[in-house]
Amino acid sequence: MLHKDITCSVCGLACDDIDIELTKNDIKVYNACSMGEAKYHKLRDPNRILKPIIDGKEAGWKDAIKKTAEILGKAKRPLIFMGSEISTESMRVGIEMAEYLGGVVDGNSTMCHGPTVLGIQEAGLPSATLGEVKNRADLLIYWGCNPIESHPRLLSRYSLFPRGYFREHGGQERTVIVVDPRKTPTTELADLHIQIEPNKDFELMSAIGAVINGHDIDKAVGGVPPQTIRRLAEMMKSCKYGVIFVGLGIASSVGKYRNLEKAMRLVRNINKYSRFILLANRGHSNVAGFNQIMTWTSGYPFGVDYSKGIPRFNPGETTTVDLLARGEVDAVLVVGADLGAHLPREAIEHLADIPLISVEVAHCPTTLLSNVVIPDVLNAMECEGTFYRMDNVPIHVRKFAKSPLKETKSTVDTLKQVLAEIKKSKG
Ligand code: SF4
Repeated sequence: MLHKDITCSVCGLACDDIDIELTKNDIKVYNACSMGEAKYHKLRDPNRILKPIIDGKEAGWKDAIKKTAEILGKAKRPLIFMGSEISTESMRVGIEMAEYLGGVVDGNSTMCHGPTVLGIQEAGLPSATLGEVKNRADLLIYWGCNPIESHPRLLSRYSLFPRGYFREHGGQERTVIVVDPRKTPTTELADLHIQIEPNKDFELMSAIGAVINGHDIDKAVGGVPPQTIRRLAEMMKSCKYGVIFVGLGIASSVGKYRNLEKAMRLVRNINKYSRFILLANRGHSNVAGFNQIMTWTSGYPFGVDYSKGIPRFNPGETTTVDLLARGEVDAVLVVGADLGAHLPREAIEHLADIPLISVEVAHCPTTLLSNVVIPDVLNAMECEGTFYRMDNVPIHVRKFAKSPLKETKSTVDTLKQVLAEIKKSKG
């Protein structure tokens, strides 16, 4: 059977034009990139977890829910970690659970675009939707990112190649600048590749801002000659509609969230001369969703600590890697994320020493470390929900396949069962 216009839940683009043909022995995927296509084959993954596991042995569903509630209910400082390939409805239950338990709740941005989100809170995000980019943009700046490999359909679906309402000739009417110390597949497409020295993003943005404000510069900044900086500033001022796509190259380089704050202030400044926006290339499909609901729930975007009965946020203190590396949490629930494959050694060592529960679709390093493993439903395939695209547009994702799990309808349902059991056990 052919299912049309399905939403992909892999990268932040959340492409909603994927067609899936499910037959008895095969899965055919149309329109998706190779990353998206691989995800749909998880529907028939032989590695799929179908039964709960407690201490390495298959267990009953109710026992796994009870054991999870018991571990989390007894913990003095539990951490609830919400992955990004689950719906925002699931994340809301995780946040409620952390608040009820007086624990900490965190999400993937703690390890990726956290500095970008902090930059937004400092400076405000001058932004727009990807649809507006497609219809209007004539200057595309990819700064510290390589979308051809990280967001394979960004250029073909929204930014460079498609024809837009005001860009009838598509790519012929758009100029591409890439700011990156490395040569990548994206730099090969660029009209101008600015090969900046590593960790000099803040300095280069300051220099561009100075030129835009009427000052002259006579020295290279970050290895970029003054004439190139002047040319870049002129291109930004004279375009009709410009976009800076920022990637982890900026968020992870020296300066961290100050780089992003600077980028947002630079974009605001250019708007005195031309229309300009900034978009973050969010890597995971619903990582933006966690920041959205965490912010409207608590005022903070990630790493929120409820141990004092009010939400507290202090990056470096209330964030996953720091809490684990310092041994400050005594139980962890991970939903749809593989912490075991991504955290630094000190954090993993503590994770291995404390009770760990994972709600997961297939086996991974985290499930190998877990005391309790609860099978999960594939979001955006076997259950519906809301996902936020990288431009913060919420998209309702539909289900098109039947879940093999009988005891739960969705990740939301599983987490609600756990929360109800915790409340019951605590009276
Ligand atoms: S570009 Fe991203 S959202 Fe689109 S199909 Fe590929 S992985 Fe999925």
